[in-house]
Amino acid sequence: MKVWRDSNETTGCPFFGVHIYSDSSVVIRQLKCWKGYSGDHQKLLFGFYDHGHQDYPGWALRNYIAFLSLRWKIEKVQFLCYRERRGEPDLEKSLIGEASFAAPHGWDGSDYVPEIIGWEGEKAGDRKKEKILKPIDLDSLNPASQDEEKQVMHLKLMGWRHPSLVLNKLRSARCLVLGAGALGCEVSRLLMTWGVRKLTVVDGGCVAIPDIVKQSLYVDNDCGVPRATAIVPHLKERCPAVEVEGIQMEIPVPGNPVSKTKMSSVLDNCKRLQALVASSDVVFLLTDTWESRWFPTLLCANENKIAITAASGYDSYLVMRHGAGPGHNLSTEDALGHQRLGCCFCNDSTSFVNLVLNETVALPGLTSIASGKAVELFARILHHEEGDTCSRRYCWYGH
Ligand SMILES: [Zn+2]
Repeated sequence: MKVWRDSNETTGCPFFGVHIYSDSSVVIRQLKCWKGYSGDHQKLLFGFYDHGHQDYPGWALRNYIAFLSLRWKIEKVQFLCYRERRGEPDLEKSLIGEASFAAPHGWDGSDYVPEIIGWEGEKAGDRKKEKILKPIDLDSLNPASQDEEKQVMHLKLMGWRHPSLVLNKLRSARCLVLGAGALGCEVSRLLMTWGVRKLTVVDGGCVAIPDIVKQSLYVDNDCGVPRATAIVPHLKERCPAVEVEGIQMEIPVPGNPVSKTKMSSVLDNCKRLQALVASSDVVFLLTDTWESRWFPTLLCANENKIAITAASGYDSYLVMRHGAGPGHNLSTEDALGHQRLGCCFCNDSTSFVNLVLNETVALPGLTSIASGKAVELFARILHHEEGDTCSRRYCWYGH
């Protein structure tokens, strides 16, 4: 058997004949030769490589016996289920047995179609039955897509209760997350939980030691690494199917003096941010200052993108969606004749002051609450038939 397995010519033949002679010598031959040697051996076993490890033969034996019956009219077969363990013959697990098989009537007729596994359907035509090969979704065998199936199972279960849930909308939504701090970490993670698979995260800072306890995705090793770089592998670890891009970039802020030498790089950042907003479906404004939300707010209004602001102060937080952009006529009414909603700068300036003063020191639980509400708000707007122009009644998830 070892010679058979080691030879280039025969190692790839999973079916073979084992000829046992009266002097106990054994010769293994190719199956097609069995008739030529049928007279001079004492015993003939039809062998095959059996990948099973159970106490009974593997499935391949069924096809093997059917083939022997159909091709050579052998009704009684002595078989050898040859098994290996770590590349070595495992004769303890290998099985020898005998099977009788009476071919059904008409089995060898040219128009006979047996009931076999892997084929389905029956097409009538010219008194002939036709079976169609059952298509196998090979992608379902891919470990990555199996993982993805498991990761959206909770959403599918939700979909049974709430049929309006459209997973494809969430999967294809391109989300731009501005800021990868405490809010950015939570929002990115929750978006993935909602089935979002296209994320772009923009941040200009680096992970510092005090951040690790507050910003949920980072670990000790990330200290000193740009947040936009550090967040990517952590999101991928949790959800391998997510397409995430981390962009290290300072968001241009009005009023910040720009030296002549930095002028061109700031302008480049402006153009880059404009392109990012234009290519996204929703923008989350989660930076650590109000000023840095101003320019993205203008871009979102100009591009008519869903924009959601989340911020936490010492003991307060704010989550709001910006209204749809003004369009071409700069009207205060939106495309559906509703009063347009404003942005976070023209709606609630008093709470801004509070938040600006207290932004870096907030009650720990508020970050999770604000992030959670921001993401639920996004999912709510995405599923509303009027999208970003839906009225303010739909500002909050659950209302
Ligand atoms: Zn505004």
